[in-house]
Amino acid sequence: MRAHILQEPGRIELHELPVPSPDEGEIVVRVRAALTCGTDIKMFLRGHPKFPTPTRFGHEFSGQVSAVGREVKHLREGDEVMVAPTGPCNACYYCSREQENLCETVIETMVLGAYGEFVKIPARIVRANVYPKPRALSFAEAALLEPLSCVTHGLEGISLRPDDMAVVIGAGAIALLHVLVLRAHGVHNVWVVGRNPERARYASRVGAQRVLISGLSEARAAVLSATAGRGADLVIECTGQVEVWERAPDFARRGGTVILFGGCAAGTQARFDTLRLHYDQLRVHSPFHFTPRAVRRAYELLADSSFAGERLISGYYALEELAKALDAHRAGRGLKFAIEP
Ligand SMILES: [Zn+2]
Ligand SMILES: [Zn+2]
Repeated sequence: MRAHILQEPGRIELHELPVPSPDEGEIVVRVRAALTCGTDIKMFLRGHPKFPTPTRFGHEFSGQVSAVGREVKHLREGDEVMVAPTGPCNACYYCSREQENLCETVIETMVLGAYGEFVKIPARIVRANVYPKPRALSFAEAALLEPLSCVTHGLEGISLRPDDMAVVIGAGAIALLHVLVLRAHGVHNVWVVGRNPERARYASRVGAQRVLISGLSEARAAVLSATAGRGADLVIECTGQVEVWERAPDFARRGGTVILFGGCAAGTQARFDTLRLHYDQLRVHSPFHFTPRAVRRAYELLADSSFAGERLISGYYALEELAKALDAHRAGRGLKFAIEP
């Protein structure tokens, strides 16, 4: 089989490798669609501390089960599946507290290799985070399961009302997945603040009520004037820029919620106005990764035909064109690109 190997930052090579075979609790999936993700771009450009090179890569995918381990009873060869690429150990402190997103081994056991023809799925993922793909869902849309799970995890426990006004800062795929999920929860007054006009087009397409292509100060003024000076009920930061983390609370009303979603660079620090956080009782939330609960919720959303996740997919490429797809993603010529091995 063919699979891309990230040899070192900046260099990928398409290799011929043996097709994996599953151990007892494992399955092997023939990848039908893999999506480009900002994490892949970072990994491609700078490497990733958790995944030393050379390594296979790509982690958002769906496909067809091609082989099943002896202990796997709920899946068969030929099943079309969607996969979230990590699973909990179910034994550590965090797993026992239903904080499986923080499982001590969840990230180091992540499945990489979606940019290849076959991927072996470890038992812990087979147990928790593999779902049958509904017929009506395309493989590319089904591959949104992973990023969407991060979004549903971030919104877990956040109370949403149909009359809420939400501001999403950032206009990439994660930002627009938030728009889709908020709309699915009946929140329609969702604004997107972005800088890239190309991406802004996508924001309107997924149903953002208003798209502001502007700096943060200007955007904040527009939000305040639309809310009688109060600010938004919910503010979701999706850029991973320290200065945006620091400014996000300025968009929130008293008693509002701020979700700091985008991970910033290691070693950075943010400063906040303590009086605002205290006297205005802002709820600040900074979610990481996902739990099996969140994956189930993401699956339910994708299975609902009104979700329209395919609007985030900007183009399709063959396996050997991965470099082109990563480049298009990096250059912001779209949101996410599907590789079809
Ligand atoms: Zn991703
Ligand atoms: Zn664990």
